[in-house]
Amino acid sequence: MLRHDQPGRQDAAPECRMLRRRPAVYASVYAPCEGRDWWWLAYICPWCGSGHLGRARSEAEIPGARRSRCGRAVYVHVARTYRGRLPREVA
Ligand SMILES: [Zn+2]
Repeated sequence: MLRHDQPGRQDAAPECRMLRRRPAVYASVYAPCEGRDWWWLAYICPWCGSGHLGRARSEAEIPGARRSRCGRAVYVHVARTYRGRLPREVA
């Protein structure tokens, strides 16, 4: 038995510490469209209660640590992604 391998316990501590300073937000994500190359996201800020917008160059850059518009740290999770009606070919 591997006594050092206890992922549940080992991973829990740093994650808890991080989440206390960076509350999770669940964002709606909007794929690029005609005339807009950036990915956009929208979420309700746990700090100030407002809706904030953010953007990213690619879908992969959206989840994770981010600074909200009001200057506080948040941790973005993708709640849902709006890709539009047509699949977008690479421009
Ligand atoms: Zn805010």
